[in-house]
Amino acid sequence: MGRLSKIAETAQLLGSTVLALLFPKSCAGCGTIDRSLDRFWCDQCLGEMAFIGSPLCPVCGRPFLDAPDSSDHLCGECLESAFHFDSARSAVLHLGIVRDRIHQLKFGGRLEWTTPLAELLLKVYHGWDAAAPDLVLPVPLHTRRLRQRGFNQSGLLARELAQNLGLPVSLDSLARKQWTEPQTRLNRHQRLKNVRGAFEVRRPELVRGRRVLLVDDVFTTGETLNECARTLKKKGAAGVYALTVTRALPD
Ligand SMILES: [Zn+2]
Ligand SMILES: [Zn+2]
Repeated sequence: MGRLSKIAETAQLLGSTVLALLFPKSCAGCGTIDRSLDRFWCDQCLGEMAFIGSPLCPVCGRPFLDAPDSSDHLCGECLESAFHFDSARSAVLHLGIVRDRIHQLKFGGRLEWTTPLAELLLKVYHGWDAAAPDLVLPVPLHTRRLRQRGFNQSGLLARELAQNLGLPVSLDSLARKQWTEPQTRLNRHQRLKNVRGAFEVRRPELVRGRRVLLVDDVFTTGETLNECARTLKKKGAAGVYALTVTRALPD
């Protein structure tokens, strides 16, 4: 990250911290002010979120919304060992207020949504028995995108989460060396081709023999997280666990 964008990011974060101190008790969803609130979302907003729970795929965390009475079982992709990460989880479906807050953070520079979104990451992390990570890493942005946007939303989320968990975080161990087109309009096969070889481990000594918790905002097809996991394991990561705020399900 360039020094200037780092300064800008710090200033914005400081700004949002000051705001949080001035208005400590308003819900990040509806703005309701509740002095007794000790978290960032009110009960009603939490109640309206589509939290992901069983039945789900124990590996990739895909929820089985069509079969609510089934028990946890591997999905088709994980039956074919499609993923290199050991397991993945997301807090909520990519819908409603949480999707809006992610968009506003990512594309509108609303950095004050970082902490409420990280709170959702923390929630799902504590209900997840898989990971006992040594290190938190964000899915990186290409430096060109980082310059355009000024910050990496996944880096902000990873830093916040790591701080809460008392774990080290590295924002530059994993880097995106290849410019990739935005994934949203690509199908699964094109996404796979698009991200293949896109990442590199810049600080392999940090990763070797370690269990890595990868953080991103949205899990869509999982190809980006998967390619990060493949790259990290090639450099000797002992385990890779992926955590995202939301999960977008294919139509
Ligand atoms: Zn609310
Ligand atoms: Zn799966």
